Amino acid sequence: MAGKALDMVPYYGNITLEQMYKIALSYWTFVEPDYSSHVHGDARDPGSPYYPIVQYGSQNVYVATCQDALYYNGYLTLTDIDGIFGDITKNAVIKFQKDHNLTPDGIVGSQTWSALLPDT
Ligand SMILES: [Zn+2]
Repeated sequence: MAGKALDMVPYYGNITLEQMYKIALSYWTFVEPDYSSHVHGDARDPGSPYYPIVQYGSQNVYVATCQDALYYNGYLTLTDIDGIFGDITKNAVIKFQKDHNLTPDGIVGSQTWSALLPDT
């Protein structure tokens, strides 16, 4: 998610990941249910998008994250990943949205983010 997050492992090993997980539940609004390798907690608001909206003209790391997912899914080439949301990215988003029964508006909001990054 975008914002405050922490991955934790016991430093000296005197508490277990399970104990750490239970403590994290009382502090973070979201804690990953799988704590087999580390405990992940973050300040996610369940009602808001995980990532900021990106659209034509956006230039930031979230655009690159979006492009990385579009590349992974076969909608962009590797050289298209540049963090700049232009015509090529917009057309790729629209095609992705059509293929996933999303409103094909070329704007990456919470629905499209969820489809691009299903496990986040
Ligand atoms: Zn994490």
